Amino acid sequence: MADLRVERIAEFIEPLRVQPGSRVRLARDFDPGYKADFLNKKDGRELLAAGVELLADYQRRLAAQNTYGVLVCLQALDAGGKDGTIRHVMSGVNPQGVKVSGFKVPSAEELDHDYLWRYACRLPSRGDIGIFNRSHYEEVLVVRVHPEHLQRQQLPDSARQGHVWARRFREINDWERYLSDNGFKVVKLFLNLSKEEQRTRFLRRIDRPDRNWKFSAADARERRYWDDYQRAFSKMLSATSTEWAPWYVIPADRKWFARIAAAAVLAHTLIEIDPQYPTVSEERRSDLLVARSELEAEAPEGAPADPYAAAAAEKKRRKKKRRKK
Ligand code: ATP
Ligand code: MG
Repeated sequence: MADLRVERIAEFIEPLRVQPGSRVRLARDFDPGYKADFLNKKDGRELLAAGVELLADYQRRLAAQNTYGVLVCLQALDAGGKDGTIRHVMSGVNPQGVKVSGFKVPSAEELDHDYLWRYACRLPSRGDIGIFNRSHYEEVLVVRVHPEHLQRQQLPDSARQGHVWARRFREINDWERYLSDNGFKVVKLFLNLSKEEQRTRFLRRIDRPDRNWKFSAADARERRYWDDYQRAFSKMLSATSTEWAPWYVIPADRKWFARIAAAAVLAHTLIEIDPQYPTVSEERRSDLLVARSELEAEAPEGAPADPYAAAAAEKKRRKKKRRKK
């Protein structure tokens, strides 16, 4: 990986990162319409393709090394573009190494456990990228905006009293620190949409018959709580952007830019992990050579002893010949 490319990715995502310890006011600090000056949509498409390729390469290494895992948490208000971001950013990676989990209103079984239980059940394994489409952060967002959800959580009185949200922030930070210490990096993306862009996207879903299924009357009702959500998001970003798991606020009014930015943050995390293919020990190498001799001895009459090596040599010969012409 060229250092320059690494540096450019780091520079690109820096303004999106919530500085740990800072006090965020979304409307003042982050513009949903922001796009880096040097980018236009056309160049953006090429950049995203390059980013997707880079992710695929790093994911192969992550899986081969089997030491680290990555958890991507995606939060947004309705129509923020979570689904499209997942589809585009992960389009090049091996589906076997990625698991997407969506979180909706908790079931009766989920409510019978502590509030982090259902998220812990879906954590990625080592070598995998797990994506949470909504995440444990709903526990300090929708649950905060609609306190009836907290009522349904069957908590003991002691867990309802006092500073419920401050306590949840601390518990979430501790949990993520524990994950990070144990090799699971947590990447947190908030797709930051403007109210006007949400209105436009809702209308598009109503106007286009092929999009009707994406719209529910509940989405429009939830929009009435816009300001409450903005406040809840601001508090959450202020309290839970940490050195070990910082938040990134992704400007989401332009879908193409949001996708590049999300890919860049994920790429940055993988570059930092820098997973490596395991090297083969001397002993294992000699096992491989023995297996090769055995396979070569099995070649049917007329077939090359090692068809793979023969094809590779032929390819090389042709390439050399072409170059000479
Ligand atoms: P889509 O893009 O398909 O609409 P979605 O993520 O919005 O995807 P929905 O089924 O529409 O999925 O909505 C899920 C709902 O579940 C959201 O309104 C969300 O706030 C709610 N939810 C998620 N987690 C919790 C929770 N812990 N407590 C209460 N509600 C929750
Ligand atoms: Mg929805």
